[in-house]
Amino acid sequence: PTLRNPEQWCRSFNHFIGQCLIKDFEARPSVTHLLEHPFIKQVHDKDVALQQQLAALIQEQQEAGCKTKTKHERINTRKTLIIQSCPDDDLVNLEFLDEVRFNKRYDELQVYTYVGDILIALNPFQNLSIYSPQFSKLYHAVKRVDNPPHIFATADAAYRGMVTFCKDQCIIISGESGAGKTESAHLIVQHLTFLGKANNRTLREKILQVNPLVEAFGNACTAINDNSSRFGKYLEMKFTLTGAVIGAKISEYLLEKSRVIKQATGEKNFHIFYYIYAGLYHEDKLKTYRLPDRTPPRYIDSQHRKVMQDIVSSKLYKEQFDAIQEGFRNIGFTEEEVTSVYRILSAILNTGNIEFAAITSQHQTDKSEVPNSEALENAASLLSIGPEELQEALTSQCVVTRGETIIRTNTVDKATDVRDAMSKALYGRLFSWIVNRINSLLHAAESGMNVGILDIFGFENFKKNSFEQLCINIANEQIQFYFNQHIFALEQMEYQSEGVDASLVEYEDNRPILDMFLQKPMGLLSLMDEESRFPQATDQTLVDKFEDNLRCKYFWIPKRVELCFGIQHYAGKVMYNVDGFLEKNRDTLPADIVVVLRTSENKLLQQLFSSPLTKTAEMLIDVLNYQIPTSYFISAKPHYVDTMEMMRHPEETTNMRRQTVASYFRYSLMDLLSKMVVGQPHFVRCIKPNDDRQALRFCKERVMLQLRYTGILETVNIRRQGYSHRILFEEFVNRYYYLAFRAHQMPETSKENAVAILERAKLKDWVLGTTKVFLRYYHVEQLNLLLREV
Ligand code: ATP
Ligand code: MG
Repeated sequence: PTLRNPEQWCRSFNHFIGQCLIKDFEARPSVTHLLEHPFIKQVHDKDVALQQQLAALIQEQQEAGCKTKTKHERINTRKTLIIQSCPDDDLVNLEFLDEVRFNKRYDELQVYTYVGDILIALNPFQNLSIYSPQFSKLYHAVKRVDNPPHIFATADAAYRGMVTFCKDQCIIISGESGAGKTESAHLIVQHLTFLGKANNRTLREKILQVNPLVEAFGNACTAINDNSSRFGKYLEMKFTLTGAVIGAKISEYLLEKSRVIKQATGEKNFHIFYYIYAGLYHEDKLKTYRLPDRTPPRYIDSQHRKVMQDIVSSKLYKEQFDAIQEGFRNIGFTEEEVTSVYRILSAILNTGNIEFAAITSQHQTDKSEVPNSEALENAASLLSIGPEELQEALTSQCVVTRGETIIRTNTVDKATDVRDAMSKALYGRLFSWIVNRINSLLHAAESGMNVGILDIFGFENFKKNSFEQLCINIANEQIQFYFNQHIFALEQMEYQSEGVDASLVEYEDNRPILDMFLQKPMGLLSLMDEESRFPQATDQTLVDKFEDNLRCKYFWIPKRVELCFGIQHYAGKVMYNVDGFLEKNRDTLPADIVVVLRTSENKLLQQLFSSPLTKTAEMLIDVLNYQIPTSYFISAKPHYVDTMEMMRHPEETTNMRRQTVASYFRYSLMDLLSKMVVGQPHFVRCIKPNDDRQALRFCKERVMLQLRYTGILETVNIRRQGYSHRILFEEFVNRYYYLAFRAHQMPETSKENAVAILERAKLKDWVLGTTKVFLRYYHVEQLNLLLREV
């Protein structure tokens, strides 16, 4: 493959190449070594004089202390120059894959590598200068092999796939927490808005602001990543048939609401709480929003580290607050809506500060009250509801038994749980509302096609893992399954349908693990749901139930640790602690709270709690079978997708059996898959080079482990040992007929003529299917070389 336009290539890569070459030269200052550098090797092999000239040039510059400039002008004057992408760019081209080669690429800041059509992205943990508008121009409608691998190339491939074949596309980004999925998603959106040349500049800006806005509410600092996604996000960018961007739509999955009320040691609440604190403090509005200005509210400082000054004086938080304000405004939220959002957020912080005390009298022991009413009054005022009504709803509950309504009082613990449940519900619904509002503001009026970008929470393994990690890891398990289906199962199917031996395509199928989680009625989630329905169930009875029913090698109960179970995930072993599993799964919000919140005079709040109860939830769950529908590879949306809206609020009590988080989760996964399967997939696998977030530190073991468990190594092997190129006879003859026929002959595009070409080219080890020639990874290169010689 040659680059048709070396001028353009050199201009855009000047800086980048210069940096890499000089770095290399600094490490080993020898011209012979430099000549071995892949970039220099890109210069046509035969042109040794030019290579030497280039090497001398670099040496000269290095000595002159001019670190980033290669004299591309001189290169450009040589019209004979042929620049190629390095063979290392695609691992499938290599005879063997070792970490040394990967390490070398990383040291050269080549963070992207292909494995066939999959893009591997190593997290650089530093800002690179390869995402500028010049780079966007470079990765616009060019052949993939003409440029080094890049995230923009994947966005460009999806865009071109959509425009050329009029087919929806879907980019699936996966990887561990902190591997760079969210950053990659931003870069893809950036490039797609460039490619989709919106005539309307404001629309482009709006779309670019969607991600930062939603992430302010859905991301948080964890032990692994300072900007960790705590929800799954599927962003669909809508385009006209001619490829102009016209709108966007987000679907959000399973926000980790429990973070609102409690965070693990060293972790933080969702970013937005800190942003508003710093922002409102600077605008002198803490009083207006009734936010305490001495001690930070418990929800954002549960460990009582008294970090108020750190929060309010943080420049970063203040800047983010300004960016959020601007985002709201640009996307089209009204001032009234934004104020309501801040009021609800402040109300949540005040709610967390409501304390309860036991009232013990002779007749009543299980009763609680709010001794210090300030936080209660603040919360009620911000929510525009009566403080007495709120206190009532927190400290007691109406129960209807045999047609009679009885008021039961809450103990302190119970009242505290109700308070926290209310905060979680408020935040969860506010988040969904923001997402829906963005969707209506960016709704595309015309119908067209779309490119979807999936960025979910990455696989997690903390010291202590809970219900949230379980859900996150099952979601990742499902995405891995989808990847396997596409990369391996489809490959196997093609071999089989063409009558070619498919035994070369072997891979680690994670289906049994998914079965263990999702099967009905004996899968882990179903068992947990069943246990959640018993009021007397405890963490111990849950573990016992798992132990009695889950008999497979992926599940075990450790002998010495109590209330724990272990799972062998595709990405490694994780030990889960069942503490609080049942409560988190039930996620109940007492009807009394809903009733009082519905009395609010705040329009937004009324809206949040006015949705109809989820009547058909249970019915739907039964209809759903987690297994990929038979229409998996067919572009048809399963019929149940539209009913998603009815399932939005799992915590509300229904007349039927209560919907649990697990059942909602199962549904969300199906919904997500149903969206993904309609598009042509493109995979981006993010890899974390080290666990210390250090630039230029390449930890071999960690990288190889990730390459192994994500199936990349298997992919490389299969592509290499198998037949990575499968070309229809017709196409093959059209492409290569000059190798065996005269140029004007135009032979018939038959199987026999394909064989004639293969024999004439003296290729070995190819196989014929019923409609296609099956070639090995190196065959195409050999054929192209022969073509050049003709
Ligand atoms: P999670 O699953 O926790 O959401 P993630 O895979 O989305 O993790 P990111 O938040 O995208 O991870 O990346 C973590 C950090 O790594 C970023 O905050 C950034 O500092 C750095 N990073 C990732 N990709 C890049 C990049 N292409 N250039 C520079 N820095 C990057
Ligand atoms: Mg993320």
